[in-house]
Amino acid sequence: MTDKFDLLVIGGGSGGLAHAQRAAEYGANAAVVEYGPLGGTCVNVGCVPKKIMWYSAHQAHQLHHAPDYGFDVVVKGHDWGALKSRRDAYIKRLNGIYANNLDKRGVAHIQGGARFVDAHTVDVAGRRYRAERIAIATGGKPIVPDIAGAELGITSDGFFELEERPERVLLVGSGYVSVELAGVLNALGSETQVVVRKEGVLRSFDKMLSTELMEAMRNSGIRLDTGVIPETVAQTGDGIVLHAADGRSFGPVDTLIWAVGRSPNTEMLEAASAGVHMDDKGFIPTDEYQQTNVDHIFALGDVTGRDALTPVAIAAGRRLADRLYGGMDGRHLEYHLIPTVIFSHPTIGTVGMTEDEAHARFGDDVKVYTSAFIGMYYALGQDKQRSTMKLITTGAEERVIGCHVIGEGADEMMQGFAVAMRMGATKADFDDTVAIHPTSAEELVTMR
Ligand SMILES: Cc1cc2nc3c(=O)[nH]c(=O)nc-3n(C[C@H](O)[C@H](O)[C@H](O)COP(=O)(O)OP(=O)(O)OC[C@H]3O[C@@H](n4cnc5c(N)ncnc54)[C@H](O)[C@@H]3O)c2cc1C
Repeated sequence: MTDKFDLLVIGGGSGGLAHAQRAAEYGANAAVVEYGPLGGTCVNVGCVPKKIMWYSAHQAHQLHHAPDYGFDVVVKGHDWGALKSRRDAYIKRLNGIYANNLDKRGVAHIQGGARFVDAHTVDVAGRRYRAERIAIATGGKPIVPDIAGAELGITSDGFFELEERPERVLLVGSGYVSVELAGVLNALGSETQVVVRKEGVLRSFDKMLSTELMEAMRNSGIRLDTGVIPETVAQTGDGIVLHAADGRSFGPVDTLIWAVGRSPNTEMLEAASAGVHMDDKGFIPTDEYQQTNVDHIFALGDVTGRDALTPVAIAAGRRLADRLYGGMDGRHLEYHLIPTVIFSHPTIGTVGMTEDEAHARFGDDVKVYTSAFIGMYYALGQDKQRSTMKLITTGAEERVIGCHVIGEGADEMMQGFAVAMRMGATKADFDDTVAIHPTSAEELVTMR
């Protein structure tokens, strides 16, 4: 039996749902194939449950500082299990909302794993579906290294399944997932260690952010070791131990979490049957219009190997639908000046070039402004968490090309500055903007 659609989207995550729904709004007869729960990584094992856990850790920090503000607080404990069941129930509600959203727009939801039969036909559990256009939005999954004993560890997916907080935990990896989960576990009371391969965390971000975050992590009690190349993992009577290539060992711990990157979900697709090219890591490259090497097959979101962020997948999906079904010729996502936040403790907000990138691109024609201060929130207590900011400009007009903040409120600060930078704001525009007082954000418009 064959069903026919204008558009078949493989993957019901952030990008796939956004693309199918926008196309349906323009009148396309669209379907989404999904083998897991709707919402994909972000809703089920990514941004959403992560932010809930971050909020919980944030509460722990607030409780810790409450005496500074006159409260006599007795904290009797933290019920991880209760938090998890509320979090799971919220996600279930979201899954339902996503299903309703598809229904409302008349998008068919096909449950199961998709594989290409040919360039216009996809098989899902033995049933064949044909479509004029096909979009691949299959996202990615966490990598588990290929070393002895690796299966003793879990990944970020497993973190969200934990029914209890591990007393002792080791995170392996230097990216944002590692530092975010470490911050949560540490704040909620786990003895937390992080090991990274090179010299620091968040190596693709501005160096200032990496240096400041490492100091803050260590000050908060996280043990952070660098230059660690995992060689084997072993179960001992007292817990899991990671052995490194240089003879050092880490642990024993109750839980080891691999946070060493993500690989694309492309094995099941059998993309070669449709003639779709993949790179050597399995990502599906596209041109700037999200088009693969096959005219009517598109790819978007994490599976393309570009900036792996939910709003990026959504924006790419919606713009592609605007162009193909909404008559907006030439509409596409520009992959630059993409703001992002790391939900570490403290948070990081960043947009634009790092200082190194700016020098590589503009040589000496780069001017950098920095500011470091203790935010007023910390004025009354012993705990003094520093905020640090950097603005990077270029040219005689000092166009702002990089803005990096670590500290209280950085997460909610960056969106508006990203708008300004997209509009080509200069340092003078920042300076001419009246400050909002008393905030941390005002430092960004008063830097000298
Ligand atoms: C721990 C963690 C925290 C994160 N936090 C943030 C954050 O704070 N902010 C942010 O912007 N981003 C965050 N991300 C990244 C974000 O989740 C992803 O960038 C986003 O989900 C990508 O969307 P996507 O549509 O490309 O893929 P996904 O959301 O991964 O969706 C792909 C879907 O395709 C399905 N699928 C795969 N293969 C097939 C097949 N053959 N047939 C049928 N279905 C298939 C999968 O089941 C999945 O549901 C986080 C990720 C992780 C892991």
